[in-house]
Amino acid sequence: MKKKIKCFNSIKELIFNYKFFISKEIKIKGWVKHFRYNCFIIINDGSTINNLQIFIDQKFDSLVKKINIGISIEVIGVLVLSKGKEQNIEIYANKIKIIGKFAPEELQKTILQPKTHSFKKLREQAYLRFRTSIFSSIMRIRHNISFSIHKFFFQKNFIYINTPIITTYDSEGAGEMFRVTNFDLKKIPLNEKGELNNNLDFFGTSTYLTVSGQLQGEAAASGLGKIYTFGPTFRAEKSNTFRHLSEFWMIEPEMSFSKLVHNMNIAEKLLKYVIKFVINNSYEDLFFLEKKNKIKIFKRLNNVLESSFERISYTNAIKILKYSKNGEFLQSINWGEDLKSEHEKFLAENYFNNPIIIYNYPLKIKPFYMRINNDNKTVAAMDIIFPYIGEIIGGSQREERYNVLLKRILELNLNIKSLWWYLNIRRFGSVPQSGFGLGFERLIQYITNIDNIKDVIPFPRYPNHAYF
Ligand code: ATP
Ligand code: MN
Repeated sequence: MKKKIKCFNSIKELIFNYKFFISKEIKIKGWVKHFRYNCFIIINDGSTINNLQIFIDQKFDSLVKKINIGISIEVIGVLVLSKGKEQNIEIYANKIKIIGKFAPEELQKTILQPKTHSFKKLREQAYLRFRTSIFSSIMRIRHNISFSIHKFFFQKNFIYINTPIITTYDSEGAGEMFRVTNFDLKKIPLNEKGELNNNLDFFGTSTYLTVSGQLQGEAAASGLGKIYTFGPTFRAEKSNTFRHLSEFWMIEPEMSFSKLVHNMNIAEKLLKYVIKFVINNSYEDLFFLEKKNKIKIFKRLNNVLESSFERISYTNAIKILKYSKNGEFLQSINWGEDLKSEHEKFLAENYFNNPIIIYNYPLKIKPFYMRINNDNKTVAAMDIIFPYIGEIIGGSQREERYNVLLKRILELNLNIKSLWWYLNIRRFGSVPQSGFGLGFERLIQYITNIDNIKDVIPFPRYPNHAYF
């Protein structure tokens, strides 16, 4: 009679249910992480930061010679309680099958060899870094952050929608968008004036990768009430910084019947909800990162949960920057100028030492769709600034008054041909509306305390780098 073997699909599942299977024969698979003494093989399968220890006796001597770090194996063995301090359980192997192998000397060339590699080195083999403890940890946290964002909006009855990736809208900063075309680049059609004949392009006009789904989101919110998007966005800026990617993911809620203060409240609630969820559900991975990088992740995250984000107007922020003694070493700034990241950093990190919300920015430095305040000098904008990361959210109450919006578009000389439909939203039953854009990777960066944004996304895109 065939013995019944319990097959586990993941180490996570096994660790969760181990109490029911002590002394039973089980089957599990994973990649070999390292060896301990001469009698243990340590495997991991990516489902959890926890490894599984396999005890091997002499009968495996010849097989073990063929097993090296990085290869994948299937183990059938008896689940027993471990005598070691580091783990509750281990497997007493009865059968080991090698699934995929490679030569030990190949290992030396990869980041799979068990030692600490720099993030830069891991990035060079980004397709392998999912198998390292640190990067798989970050990816599992990323997953939980994503899930909690959907959960937050689900509970609040927001409708998840998808906005187009290919757009024609190019007025927010034409130079920063990636052009999408199917022109034969060797024979680009030109018109009489020698200009690109965009009418002959695939969509009959020039098209770009989106920098934001906001405008379409507003259209959707104007019927569905409260929506959010969660999708890729693209920026062709040359800025190769620790917090900029050329391709990143953005969460953009858009709410009808909503004004600026409500917008700030929702944004703050969302951030706190996510942090709480992640502390609860990614505890082991966060703990691993805290130990590994010797930083107080939990303390910082709990501080965020316990505080209410300081809300200051742009005008007051300028006052602080001008008159704060410790602000002296900063580049000087006058009312009307955009805050540089060093200013934001000073306010959030040194002055308040907490996330802050800066609102009511000068009209001149913000986009056309933001609602003009009664002073006619500022708009109902709000940015959330986190210590270490800087801007994590940018949002505003939208200009819902058709005439004011039209006037602003004309004043700014924006392309009315591509914005006519957006104006129409405000013609047909307009309501106060607000929303914001949250940079997904910036949030992950803050939560995991990883220095470079390139290390919190599976395959980063940045200038001169589109590998894998
Ligand atoms: P910054 O001044 O930091 O470049 P921004 O003003 O260009 O930001 P928005 O256009 O308001 O940012 O985008 C909304 C959010 O998207 C930002 O608050 C930030 O979290 C995120 N974000 C913006 N640009 C990038 C980028 N290049 N890479 C990753 N995240 C980004
Ligand atoms: Mn930017």
